[in-house]
Amino acid sequence: MKSPETAPLSHGDNGDFDVAVIGAGPKGLAMQHALQQHDVSSVLFEARNRAGAFFAPNRINRRTTITPHNLEILPDPALSFQTYLRSRSPSYQRRYPLVRGFPSSDNFRHYLQWLSQHISGLRFSSPIHHLALTPDGHIQLNRQHTVASVVLATGMGAPRDPTGLVRTSDRVIHADEQNTHADWAEFAAEKD
Ligand SMILES: Cc1cc2nc3c(=O)[nH]c(=O)nc-3n(C[C@H](O)[C@H](O)[C@H](O)COP(=O)(O)OP(=O)(O)OC[C@H]3O[C@@H](n4cnc5c(N)ncnc54)[C@H](O)[C@@H]3O)c2cc1C
Repeated sequence: MKSPETAPLSHGDNGDFDVAVIGAGPKGLAMQHALQQHDVSSVLFEARNRAGAFFAPNRINRRTTITPHNLEILPDPALSFQTYLRSRSPSYQRRYPLVRGFPSSDNFRHYLQWLSQHISGLRFSSPIHHLALTPDGHIQLNRQHTVASVVLATGMGAPRDPTGLVRTSDRVIHADEQNTHADWAEFAAEKD
């Protein structure tokens, strides 16, 4: 199986990766992690230059607390928010305190960026604008990269969903329909 880190995406070849995940928010990162735990060849495309864009200070109040489903996004204790927080210095914890015992948006954004460093196959500054079905049933992204399935984890649509084949193919899975670890693990296991 090819490693997303070492295998360049060839242009126009079928089956470069089994799965492309689009969007490095909590759901996309959790999905990419689950796929890699099941040894599925996968790549994650993020439009912006880092993970967790939704939680940027200009987009969401930094005193916002993060809801439990976002906190419990990863089953892996080594990559949990609690593990991340324990690894931070006292000065970090003073500078970015929890809010009523819950992570603030700053805490959570920093966590997602840390998490993204522990997950391979991420391509930042790589917006996906267009999806199309190829004659042999694969999916082509931006008329460049070809994969077997796509997971759309684009959140509330920023910058926006790709055009083309988005709602019409059973090979395009919507992360907003996968709400638990079990859903992600089941999807990843099917691709294994
Ligand atoms: C107004 C509002 C307030 C909210 N407040 C809270 C709150 O207080 N606490 C809380 O926990 N949750 C809050 N949420 C919910 C929060 O958005 C979700 O819980 C969480 O961000 C969803 O994660 P996600 O991974 O699905 O999407 P997101 O976090 O939105 O991540 C999607 C990612 O996909 C990328 N992307 C989008 N389109 C493309 C593309 N075409 N190509 C490549 N990349 C792309 C984006 O840049 C982004 O990084 C709020 C939502 C809204 C709308």
